[in-house]
Amino acid sequence: MEKNISNKTMTQSVIKKYNFAFKKSLGQNFLVDPNILDKIADSADINDSTGVIEIGPGIGALTQKLAERAGKVVAIEIDQRLIPILNETLAEYQNIKVINADVLKTSIDSIIKNELSGFSSIKVVANLPYYVTSPILIKILTEKTKVDSITVMIQKEVAERITAKPGGKDYGSLTVLVNYYAEANIIFSVPSTVFIPKPNVDSAVIQLKVRKNPPIKIVDEEFFFKVVRVAFQHRRKTLFNNLIHGLIEKGKKQQLEQLFSEINIDPKRRAETFNLDEFAILTNYLEKLLN
Ligand code: SAM
Repeated sequence: MEKNISNKTMTQSVIKKYNFAFKKSLGQNFLVDPNILDKIADSADINDSTGVIEIGPGIGALTQKLAERAGKVVAIEIDQRLIPILNETLAEYQNIKVINADVLKTSIDSIIKNELSGFSSIKVVANLPYYVTSPILIKILTEKTKVDSITVMIQKEVAERITAKPGGKDYGSLTVLVNYYAEANIIFSVPSTVFIPKPNVDSAVIQLKVRKNPPIKIVDEEFFFKVVRVAFQHRRKTLFNNLIHGLIEKGKKQQLEQLFSEINIDPKRRAETFNLDEFAILTNYLEKLLN
């Protein structure tokens, strides 16, 4: 196999040889720019003591770049048709394990225990299938695995939502949830022209540095997520009204008014103006009110 699997001619010849038809439903847009793949692999900051988990290797374009830098790469691919292709394109790399599975139904923790136990650092690196970006990120973060960082290409609009600051239209439940677990930064943007087939959206590479400890004290995390989701349910409504409609019985309206006044929060504010600390304070008090 030639040096860069992602070389456009190489990708096209592999696709032709296997008569591979792209499945839009699986978010199959393959990267055909070796420089961008190098840039992703470099920004993930991996070396031979790093165990890497890749989600959706496609025909192995990024996998190859990761294997050249990491101790070992475990690549999880849902599409069975890609397995024989990967066996061929990645044949010369001894430090890659391909698993044919749906990442959402796979225990990341078991993969780390079974395949990457000897590595001092575990990192997730991927060009994610866009239709499941949020569920994948939320799964890795909430499962509290030993993953140190997540460097992934995602839809630019989602990257902007994840890194948004309170007050703007991009700031929402995804921002709050991701930032509770990780420090998020956009590393660089990627135009749609470097993929085949070309997606309808622009992309960006984002890095999440997973926090060792949460930045705020939450008594019940599950309840916190529920509060955050309900808070943003109707963006034009105040957070207070969203709570009344989605979480608190109407009979407790007065108590809720009293609680807002006690913790000095204006009930006319919308959820997008609340920072992580304020969500934490509110959640911990709400829990007492409901129990
Ligand atoms: N890594 C390749 C690249 O950069 O060219 C392909 C990236 S493509 C955007 C996304 C890949 O994720 C596809 O190969 C697709 O089949 C795979 N995929 C989609 N859903 C998946 C899932 N739930 N679990 C694992 N892989 C998935």
